[in-house]
Amino acid sequence: MVKINDNYEKLPGSYLFSDIAKKVSAYQEANPDQKIIRLGIGDVTQPLTDSVISALHSAVDEMGQAKTFHGYAPDLGYEFLRTAIAKHDYEERGCDIAADEIFVSDGAKSDSANIQEIFSLDNVIAVCDPVYPVYVDSNVMAGRAGDYDEERGLFDRIVYMPCDAEHGFAPQLPEQEADLIYLCFPNNPTGAVINKEELQKWVDYANEHSSIIIYDAAYEAYIRTDGIPHSIYECKGARTCAIELHSFSKNAGFTGVRLGYTVVPKDLVRDGVALHKLWARRHSTKYNGAPYIIQRAGEAVYSEAGQREVKQLVDYYMKNAAYILKGLKEAGFTVSGGVDAPYIWLKTPNQMTSWEFFDELLEKVGVVGTPGSGFGPHGEGYFRLTAFGSYENTVEAVDRMTKHFQK
Ligand code: PLP
Repeated sequence: MVKINDNYEKLPGSYLFSDIAKKVSAYQEANPDQKIIRLGIGDVTQPLTDSVISALHSAVDEMGQAKTFHGYAPDLGYEFLRTAIAKHDYEERGCDIAADEIFVSDGAKSDSANIQEIFSLDNVIAVCDPVYPVYVDSNVMAGRAGDYDEERGLFDRIVYMPCDAEHGFAPQLPEQEADLIYLCFPNNPTGAVINKEELQKWVDYANEHSSIIIYDAAYEAYIRTDGIPHSIYECKGARTCAIELHSFSKNAGFTGVRLGYTVVPKDLVRDGVALHKLWARRHSTKYNGAPYIIQRAGEAVYSEAGQREVKQLVDYYMKNAAYILKGLKEAGFTVSGGVDAPYIWLKTPNQMTSWEFFDELLEKVGVVGTPGSGFGPHGEGYFRLTAFGSYENTVEAVDRMTKHFQK
């Protein structure tokens, strides 16, 4: 008889964003005339850029000719894309990462979930609290998280690293022993970043403790402040302790197209085994999950025009972030993030819980955001707004919030 993986049963309820979608559609059904503004889910809204569209068209034409047709993609991804990544994202930043240490994939979500497969179930994982839920969920499904404590909202084998206002929403080095440490900067949901000196402390810690850092750099393109690292490989010694995840979703708008990559340096060895070799055998994204057509689109992102267009896209969203930040500050909210990240982290007013604030914002203001508690227990009492809407909708949302909460 087939037995299911009952670790799945340990996942609390449904995925945060499906709960939000259900509430929003119930409200919209009951109030069909209300214009709802969505500043909740971290999806982008602006179309793919000209360079990307033109690369997609040419690649589609190539697939229709026997001479230029492409079947299964090479295991690590096409060299044209890996070379462009190595040059632009690493060499130009002074990082020592070679093209054959880059594994192209269908996005950072699958890689951030699947990377744990190459590690034993004995490992203890450490996560920021709050953080992007996929790191915890994938370890729960694998059986590495222990049991869920409903009351505290925590798994008993996970080390949670609280990120609170006192430390600028940055985690402190864990006091308990941790083998796999997930870090995400700029952070989803808080929008927090850390400088190179602080990141260096994590790298030193990981090398001293023989831990591994899984560094999620999905929002790196949003960094504006000098001295904030775009990659963990800007730190000394990171080649022997860090894996880095990247996405084309947030910089180039590939959320519906799917493309990302993961860096596993060849110097990363544990138990005498090079992790690079193990990740090369991953089954979850064999043939790397990203079709030829999409990898050509990714290559176009690194062209001169492509880089200009990415900058325009990021500037567009960051104008929204600046508007939200300024508007809500003036309205008396306590807000952070939004400077080097497309997320604004807002303290709920009047000690409301995250979900109470969600309901009031949806029902009285017609604006959708994301309750902070969905990202971990330390997110309770906070709320995430994204800069990924259109400028017009962002302005309207902030104006509506200001009017409602200043009453
Ligand atoms: N990593 C973080 C921190 C994210 O917030 C997201 C998406 O919201 C992802 C990864 C997923 O990226 P992708 O679209 O490449 O799967």
